[in-house]
Amino acid sequence: MRQMEEMILSHGKVLPGNVLKVGSFLNQQIDTELLRACGEEIRRLYADCGVTKILTIEASGIAIAAAAAMAMGVPMVFAKKHKTSNVDGDTYATVVHSFTHNTDYTVVVSRDYLTAADTVLCVDDFLANGAALRGLIDLAGQAGAKVAGAAIAVEKSFQNGGDALRAEGVRVESLAVIESMEGGRITFRK
Ligand code: 5GP
Repeated sequence: MRQMEEMILSHGKVLPGNVLKVGSFLNQQIDTELLRACGEEIRRLYADCGVTKILTIEASGIAIAAAAAMAMGVPMVFAKKHKTSNVDGDTYATVVHSFTHNTDYTVVVSRDYLTAADTVLCVDDFLANGAALRGLIDLAGQAGAKVAGAAIAVEKSFQNGGDALRAEGVRVESLAVIESMEGGRITFRK
């Protein structure tokens, strides 16, 4: 998606550790026109897939997930991050490893909000090694829901999570795919 690529080039900041900072348009301050366009693009990509629910992880996935949900006219559910692994029986839970923070965290979602009748579209702001997305797919699977696929704002393909999931048969659509950020110079996959 050209708009997302242009915004990354003009406003994204490459930090050490292969982290792209998008705080000025996607993560802290939100560019609402860009967000609306992202929602529309995700609706177009998954229009005929029978999606009944959008699933993301708090906090940075919520904005784009809400935009997609509004465009598609379905509810958005976000999994919550738990500090401890003590979770009750009313929730589905899974452990996600964060490579950026080098820690494991538990994410939970209420059993009331995901069911076997759902077709879930997993949405997130970033896809790097794929751990967060695998966590969402796992939660949907625990609920017996069907997974239509994933829609991601920014995929860093050099960290390989997206292509590994595609090779396993998961449909992964990313609005911008960064091939390299070496030396602070961003290049996109064609
Ligand atoms: P993964 O689990 O695929 O390794 O990483 C995805 C998660 O880590 C996303 O939910 C996102 O919040 C965070 N993340 C990974 N890479 C970046 C990055 O370069 N910039 C930002 N802002 N977040 C990232």
